[in-house]
Amino acid sequence: MSDILIVGGGFAGTWAAAGAARLLRAHDAATTVTLLAPGPDLVIRPRLYEADPAAYRVPLDRVLGPIGVQRVAAAATGIDTGRRTVTAEGADGRTEHRYERLVLATGSALVRPRLPGAELLHDVDTMAAAVALEEHLQALPEAPEGPGRFTAVVVGAGFTGVEIAAELVGRLRAAAAPHGLADEVEVVLVERDEVVGRGLGAPARPVIERALDGLGVVRRLGVTVERVDQRAVHLSDGSTVPARTAVWTAGVRADGLTGQIPAARDELGRLAVDEWLRVRGVPEVYAAGDTAAAPAEDGHTVTQSCQHATPQGKYAGHNAAADLLGLDREPFTTDPYVTCLDLGGAGAVLTSGWDRALREAPAAYAKARKRAINETWIYPPVDDAEEILRRADFRVGQRRPAPEPTG
Ligand SMILES: Cc1cc2nc3c(=O)[nH]c(=O)nc-3n(C[C@H](O)[C@H](O)[C@H](O)COP(=O)(O)OP(=O)(O)OC[C@H]3O[C@@H](n4cnc5c(N)ncnc54)[C@H](O)[C@@H]3O)c2cc1C
Repeated sequence: MSDILIVGGGFAGTWAAAGAARLLRAHDAATTVTLLAPGPDLVIRPRLYEADPAAYRVPLDRVLGPIGVQRVAAAATGIDTGRRTVTAEGADGRTEHRYERLVLATGSALVRPRLPGAELLHDVDTMAAAVALEEHLQALPEAPEGPGRFTAVVVGAGFTGVEIAAELVGRLRAAAAPHGLADEVEVVLVERDEVVGRGLGAPARPVIERALDGLGVVRRLGVTVERVDQRAVHLSDGSTVPARTAVWTAGVRADGLTGQIPAARDELGRLAVDEWLRVRGVPEVYAAGDTAAAPAEDGHTVTQSCQHATPQGKYAGHNAAADLLGLDREPFTTDPYVTCLDLGGAGAVLTSGWDRALREAPAAYAKARKRAINETWIYPPVDDAEEILRRADFRVGQRRPAPEPTG
């Protein structure tokens, strides 16, 4: 029996564990915190579009161990909110875990399409998929010569689609150049909408389009993919793009375990939560991160993003512990919304606010900020209980001073 059971070891789950541990330690409470996750690592998911994805992980035990949180290596398979139990499958077989308070933080997953050849589509949603794409790219120079050997089709021109398309230009060139084949590199971005990145806001679009032009990324707008084979991607307008690489990025939904909580969910499958991140109608259960449709500033709802998952985790853990200690819960608030979109070799673009106003900053400044986010800001401290618990304070924002422009 665990007093606070956290399911999921991503940004929300890890910070929920730390948020709970911080309050419990401050009150010298003997309450136990357990985190259940199938893998041993916090996967730094926002970096999975980059080269060398296998490196983007942090051992959970280096965060949880110093702060006294127990980790169970298993995947939750069922939740019974009436009995307050979670069943899980792990190396020890099937186990059952009782809780007083549950934090559901199992994230989200890409919705893969059902179309002929769908099994050939790569993605960058999970560590395993990103590593498979990296290995595929590295093997291309040894693949049989022919059209499309160094062509990649990226499907979906949203945040992830634009980032991976821009990055693939450099990654394919890095694979092809040692063999004198860099001229064969081509990246094609397929989008069924008539514009690139509608959800990224109109102000940033000209910057994105200029960057894609500069990188030579071809856009095929107003079409979608009908089928894929080993040599080509076939589009809905009847055209064919010879390509050995196809990457699907369109559509993400909250993890299916949300469906086992008897509560309302939004169109992304996220649980409706109150200001304290308690699932509405199920007060012993909190949801945080990509599983939660939490209220953000000015009447908006959080996005499925690391920038929202991290503070939600801190609040959910804090509030779950506060419940058990009989203390006041803290209403969730978050830093003002911003986006920083990587444009590969063309820099990056920054927007602020929910209307995504363009931040007029040199591309090099935006790129330095993206690097700081990806390489430093989103990583938790390790091995240092005091620093982990300091950062677990929900009042500590994620952002640090912006890096100086480098050029
Ligand atoms: C390529 C890419 C780029 C991105 N770029 C950005 C960006 O620039 N900025 C940004 O803010 N966000 C970005 N995101 C989104 C961000 O990564 C997610 O919103 C964030 O990871 C959500 O955190 P989370 O803790 O809710 O879920 P996750 O980080 O996905 O963690 C979920 C955890 O739950 C575990 N889990 C899943 N199922 C079970 C189960 N049944 N039992 C137990 N554990 C389970 C998983 O193993 C994992 O540990 C990006 C995502 C991708 C894929």
